[in-house]
Amino acid sequence: MHKARKRFGQNFLHDAGVIQRIVRAVSPRRGQRIVEIGPGQGAITLPLLDACGRLDVVELDRDLIQPLADCAAGHGELLIHQHDVLKFDFRSLAGDARLRVVGNLPYNISTPLLFHLIEQADVIEDMHFMLQKEVVERMAAGPGGGDYGRLSVMIQYHCKVDPLFRVRPGAFTPAPKVESAVVRLTPWRQPPFSLDDPETLEPLVRTAFSQRRKTLRNTLKPLLDSERIEAAGVDPGARPETVDLAGYVALANQLALTQKE
Ligand code: SAM
Repeated sequence: MHKARKRFGQNFLHDAGVIQRIVRAVSPRRGQRIVEIGPGQGAITLPLLDACGRLDVVELDRDLIQPLADCAAGHGELLIHQHDVLKFDFRSLAGDARLRVVGNLPYNISTPLLFHLIEQADVIEDMHFMLQKEVVERMAAGPGGGDYGRLSVMIQYHCKVDPLFRVRPGAFTPAPKVESAVVRLTPWRQPPFSLDDPETLEPLVRTAFSQRRKTLRNTLKPLLDSERIEAAGVDPGARPETVDLAGYVALANQLALTQKE
């Protein structure tokens, strides 16, 4: 019997109703390239494999690899990549078809993992993830509230965010201390706003939210002066949580201009 490891964020799903809802939300079809992150003991893996016949999985915990291979026998072709997903190159799996990525994610690495995935969004069709409920709320948040921040802006620039349903702690063994939620992320084929230099948005947004209580005039000083902020159509006296995605893209485009000078 495998003992769940805290350092790998192991909370195994056992609620058959939740597993069925996730698989129904993904709606896997034969021929699709589906990749599961952190298959663990196979709770979602086997129903996905039954539906699509072939599945790639990325799992870090060495002790789970053989049991996974054993339990997949007779269900289809399971390609197990024993790897740290934070360093995993999803592009290496994408052929002509874009990838559909699924996972009940290890919550301790969810933010860096989401950033790692959006860097590869061009090879991803969609993503269905179980995450801590607060993380889903932050991803979906609009300007004006405490949930809105760097994660909201960066995810929404790259993806359409659809929170799907909540999951109670008792659906897992061991039960996590937090509520969970399932979210669908669909990378935009054409982002709603256009960045002149894709490298500028992340540092701009990180700097803007580094001190939430301060005005953009103060926080963005190392990157943009007040005139540049105004040229983006943004009030330099505004706080970072009041600026919408269009405003951040305009600020990033001003940063790209200054870097060209
Ligand atoms: N999918 C299973 C389920 O729903 O029961 C397990 C989910 S558990 C929350 C997270 C899984 O991710 C575990 O199997 C864990 O070993 C794996 N994991 C943790 N960190 C990882 C990493 N850096 N790379 C790949 N897998 C990781």
